[in-house]
Amino acid sequence: HSTTGMSVATLVKAVEAGAELIDTSISSMSMGPGHSPTESLVSMSYVRYSQRHRERMNRLLFIDSSLMKTGLREELRPVFHPIVDMRTGLIGGFEALTRWECSGHGNIPPDEFIPLAEENGVIIEIGWFIMEQALDALADDGALGDGKWFVSVNVSPLQFLEVDFVETLERLVETKLVDRGRLKIEITESAISSMEETFWKTSRLLLERGFRFAIDDFGTGQSSLSRLSGFNFDTIKIDRSFVTDIASSERNVKLVRSIMGLSSSLGSIAIAEGIETVEQRDILLAEGCLSAQGYLYYKPLSIEAMRTVLS
Ligand code: C2E
Ligand code: MG
Ligand code: MG
Repeated sequence: HSTTGMSVATLVKAVEAGAELIDTSISSMSMGPGHSPTESLVSMSYVRYSQRHRERMNRLLFIDSSLMKTGLREELRPVFHPIVDMRTGLIGGFEALTRWECSGHGNIPPDEFIPLAEENGVIIEIGWFIMEQALDALADDGALGDGKWFVSVNVSPLQFLEVDFVETLERLVETKLVDRGRLKIEITESAISSMEETFWKTSRLLLERGFRFAIDDFGTGQSSLSRLSGFNFDTIKIDRSFVTDIASSERNVKLVRSIMGLSSSLGSIAIAEGIETVEQRDILLAEGCLSAQGYLYYKPLSIEAMRTVLS
């Protein structure tokens, strides 16, 4: 997710000011001479436009401030989205994802709150919350299933670049007594393309200590091959946008084919995100992509449901 660097409060002020300006010009327009039906149609759509923007901005402002309240943690819970082998339907791992039940306002989707949390810094707290939950799941249920499944956790660049990221992760893994090889750190391709030297140092350190990496949303970032060559990931997650219309787009088939080529020559596993139909599955299997995460198989599961599918 990209951020503009502008704070939510500034953004809201700017939009409010714009709406104010539009409102003023509309009222002078409709009071002035030569007021025609076309003009009032135009002004009507301006009013709707500015109202929609105000509502949107108010919602962003509300989410931003709710993220910063004390006790946020109590409103968060983890869900686990199975990653399956498409040939057998067997589960190879899970991606831990955060859900937020904001008191009095219901469920707020990650696509809404994660970008704001990245902007206001709360993503660090959310990131550690979900990391602990994922490690707990491994610690408590590690022996369920074949005892080999992994858990993938999204780590935002802000969290990854914290000076004590490695030590904090080490401490968690050691106190919870989990096999670190069963954890995968997911970093988006777009984050990797903008990372500086600290990122490479930290990632090398983590690799030396036995942690593993997955590149998330692959195909949507702008990472160069030279950047990828310096980063030892073992999984590439093919972004959902390539998968969604793969059945109707020869172009996307070709793009997926080239990602598969890259992935296999680097010796990494490819996981297709967002598989919803049998048709998509068959095309991906034909392209040599064996693993997938998508509603065709499962929706993200609660910890209890995860135990059930494993046992
Ligand atoms: P992501 O990391 O790429 O996670 C995959 C998203 O795709 C999840 O959405 C998952 O539920 C959804 N998905 C998977 N298969 C399908 C499918 O077949 N159909 C549809 N419609 N969706 C599918 P979710 O949980 O809403 O998360 C959205 C994004 O928010 C994530 O994309 C990730 O970037 C971010 N996110 C969620 N939880 C966390 C977190 O704990 N930390 C961080 N840093 N980011 C998170
Ligand atoms: Mg992810
Ligand atoms: Mg993804």
